[in-house]
Amino acid sequence: MTLTAGIDLGSTAIKLVLVERGEMVWHRAVPTAPGQEKIAEALLREGCTALGRSPEEVASTAMTGYGKGLLSRPGKVIDELSANSLGAFLLSQGRARTVINIGGQDVKLIRISGQGGLLDFKMNDKCAAGTGRFFEAAGRILDTPVACFGPLTETVTDPARINSTCAVFAESEIVSLMAAGTPRERIIQGLHESVARRIASLCGGREMEEEIYLDGGAASNPGLARSLEDELCRNLHVLAHPQFTVAYGAARSLEEV
Ligand code: ADP
Repeated sequence: MTLTAGIDLGSTAIKLVLVERGEMVWHRAVPTAPGQEKIAEALLREGCTALGRSPEEVASTAMTGYGKGLLSRPGKVIDELSANSLGAFLLSQGRARTVINIGGQDVKLIRISGQGGLLDFKMNDKCAAGTGRFFEAAGRILDTPVACFGPLTETVTDPARINSTCAVFAESEIVSLMAAGTPRERIIQGLHESVARRIASLCGGREMEEEIYLDGGAASNPGLARSLEDELCRNLHVLAHPQFTVAYGAARSLEEV
């Protein structure tokens, strides 16, 4: 069966997916670092080995993300917004019309056509607050990996209030809260709520009619998804493997003529 690859060279993570018969059969993300070409090739080999296939069996490759032009590998280059639209559309069985991508360095609100194409988008103001990087910095201060943020805050009812909308000031608020003895789960829940407020303001309030889907690496944090649901007063759908939607959409775009 034909195997295709989608490589998403993001600002924070390099993602590679292998796709066969429309299914994401392998996926992996590693931190973005110098030598992206080598990292991507190593991921491709790793994925093929895991599937018992050889890299020569990968019929075609699509590259996307901010570093998409950095690879010399032959293949299709697609912009990340179109790849995200198609990936979210297909992974939601054609239901997604609005997707919020919460990535490492920005947040994007994307509207998708009934055919899975990009209609339009809005992006946050390039401030780190509200992005995956912000949570990672907070995690370092709190000595807690971001993957623990969701489980730790499941039962928090009295979150700390984080008022700063700037990442730098928010970090000093975290330090002050810690110094005052505030439990870390209350601080983390405060962060979720502060970021959810920022993302909701990007969405322009609560008037969106369509169902909303979340993707991007930071959408893997169920605590953030819960806070955003509360802020927007509606249920949200988190796409399966949310960090890989863009790479998957890139791979599936290879089927388009
Ligand atoms: P980009 O495309 O900008 O590189 P991604 O969509 O790959 O960004 O998202 C990267 C972010 O996802 C990182 O900041 C990382 O902290 C976050 N992330 C990845 N996995 C998880 C997880 N399980 N829980 C919380 N955040 C996560």
